Amino acid sequence: MHEHVTDPYVKKAQQDSYRSRAAYKLLEIDKRERLLRPGMTVVDLGAAPGSWCQVAVQKMKQQGRVLAIDLLPMAPMPGVDSLEGDFTEPAALAWLEGKLQTGRVDLVLSDMAPNISGVMLRDQARHYELCELALDFAVNWLKPDGAFLVKVFQGVGFEDFRAQMRQSFEKVLIRKPDASRDRSTEVYLLGRNPIGSA
Ligand code: SAM
Repeated sequence: MHEHVTDPYVKKAQQDSYRSRAAYKLLEIDKRERLLRPGMTVVDLGAAPGSWCQVAVQKMKQQGRVLAIDLLPMAPMPGVDSLEGDFTEPAALAWLEGKLQTGRVDLVLSDMAPNISGVMLRDQARHYELCELALDFAVNWLKPDGAFLVKVFQGVGFEDFRAQMRQSFEKVLIRKPDASRDRSTEVYLLGRNPIGSA
């Protein structure tokens, strides 16, 4: 609680009207990697409360669309189509497929994190199940020049997942934005140009 109250990014998010401090992680990665451009189709997995959606809509200058999914309800946002649902359930994939029809995706974002049980190995395993599902979706739906940004935690499962990313994308980068707390093992993997996508 003390960390939250004194965190400069929490204060800044309130001042800048972002729904959470997570906005600055995407802003920082985007500044370096130029992921977001007007006219894109973006899928945001684990989107609530919606600060990455806010960043995406702003950076796309209100041109383009964002499809967002979260277990939790999310307040509506112009330019964002959202589903309150579980990405691991077939209904969520069906919703995305229905929205996309035959169109492909420019950018898949996954900031999903399961509720922590406290049992480290179980939590890591559940997290990487989500990451693998998100990777599977990204590989199937991204355009040839598309990108996939996913939150992961270093430790058990990390190297295996990074290897899967390397098999799936021409280029894989690891990013630790300043807004990601130092003591957290959280990092982001960015895959660019899915292999075999035509
Ligand atoms: N990027 C968001 C933002 O900027 O506001 C913050 C995301 S928060 C760190 C992680 C989210 O992942 C939580 O809201 C949680 O409900 C969601 N989540 C976890 N498991 C999920 C699942 N199976 N399907 C959909 N969302 C999930």
